[in-house]
Amino acid sequence: MMECIVCHCRVSPIDYGLSMSVWKLVTKVCSQECLKQWLLTPLPLVLKKDRAVYICKAIHFRGFKSIAEEKLAKWLLKNDIPYSFEEYVLIFEGKKMYMPDFYIKGHSFLELKGIPSVRALGKTLKAGRVLRLEILTYSQLKRFGIL
Ligand SMILES: [Zn+2]
Repeated sequence: MMECIVCHCRVSPIDYGLSMSVWKLVTKVCSQECLKQWLLTPLPLVLKKDRAVYICKAIHFRGFKSIAEEKLAKWLLKNDIPYSFEEYVLIFEGKKMYMPDFYIKGHSFLELKGIPSVRALGKTLKAGRVLRLEILTYSQLKRFGIL
């Protein structure tokens, strides 16, 4: 809970200005180096087989919505972390759609948020029950020197 998932050093939500409810949901790493190691760890994308959730190719690339997304993309590229941006759409029960920001090949989907609230993360959390989904905040990336 309070440890970096890679190096096990102490990390605290206070360091990132995050509430405990949001902290429970974010990827707990302590640095750029640990984030890199984590995203390069091969892990299964599907956590649980669920016929109500489909992964589809997105129709077209819409471009980055924020400077933060663009900076994270550049960092992934620079660190040889294979990724794609908004390449996939997840469909729940044949109707509700959700497009995660990034797909990290061989690892997870990744959602980047400004100041997330649990309410705003609704679709992300739903997807996270069946697929590996990392959540990162601007405050984490700022502290790591990526933003
Ligand atoms: Zn660490």
